[in-house]
Amino acid sequence: MKKISVVVPCYNEQEALPIFYTETTKELEKIPDVTWEFVLVDDGSKDKTLQTMQQLAAQDERVKYISFSRNFGKESAMYAGLENASGDYVVLMDADLQDPPALLGKMVYEIEQNGYDCVGTRRVTRKGEPPIRSFFARMFYKLINKISKTEIVDGARDFRMMKREMVDAVVKMCEYNRFSKGILSWVGFKTLWLEYENIERVAGETKWNFWKLFLYSIDGIVAFSTAPLVISSVLGIAICFIAFCMMIFYAGKTILFGDPVSGFPTLISVVLMLGGLQLLCLGILGQYLAKTYLETKGRPIYIIGKTNIEK
Ligand code: UDP
Ligand code: MG
Repeated sequence: MKKISVVVPCYNEQEALPIFYTETTKELEKIPDVTWEFVLVDDGSKDKTLQTMQQLAAQDERVKYISFSRNFGKESAMYAGLENASGDYVVLMDADLQDPPALLGKMVYEIEQNGYDCVGTRRVTRKGEPPIRSFFARMFYKLINKISKTEIVDGARDFRMMKREMVDAVVKMCEYNRFSKGILSWVGFKTLWLEYENIERVAGETKWNFWKLFLYSIDGIVAFSTAPLVISSVLGIAICFIAFCMMIFYAGKTILFGDPVSGFPTLISVVLMLGGLQLLCLGILGQYLAKTYLETKGRPIYIIGKTNIEK
């Protein structure tokens, strides 16, 4: 008998969680020859998510929960779940039923019968999402795949089932700045992608706004590519070269023709452009430095407040 661990990061999901539990259990019961556990991670919710988890755990001993001391973010919640999952297969799922539990059976089948180490999902449509967000999301995937050696699959969800070997590899990657879309691809393993149409959440509301997604995308780029550093150095060299040519040109002009070089506007625009570029490059450098700084502190990825898991 193989055991499936269902890892669910939850932040303010008191409405969605009971529905999720019922629907997912129904699907798990249909899979032949497996046992399962739920590893529910309460990411410092402000509503009754923890109480809901405790109620579920009281009804069903297969429900394990971990409650963080504060909100650490979905990445930390997923890591905690993976670290504490004991199953042979571990599946990451959102609590809002945007990840259809009906696919679980197929995932197990693909792993057992077709020898995949991991079955991931990607949504092929972005229905129900603001068009501007979809546009930026597409741009982000194009950009990061150009500048990073790690492949980041467009539309890939965190909803995926992994074999024990892969989970262990992911747990070993204990970096503080986590970008799981990159980490899960970086570890490798034979992955099958299932495609499905975007589904809207059953209850509660999304925790992501445009700005949060934007910052997250920068984290992704900084975590999986050093190309911005190269670009800023190249830019610096190119501009120095142009400036040098201009110096020779104007010096020559003055010496040969005695022309008192005029042009306050040109001067200002060059100064502004250079100033701006310097700030940009410093900013890029700063991003990497900041990440390195946080990484060297070696802070824990999450802190547990309450749990029913005995170690
Ligand atoms: N989530 C979390 N911590 C956070 C934000 C979100 O654990 O700080 C969880 C959330 O409860 C849900 C999943 O991550 O189970 C995905 O979040 P959401 O549905 O809001 O994102 P979306 O599907 O809109 O991208
Ligand atoms: Mg969602």
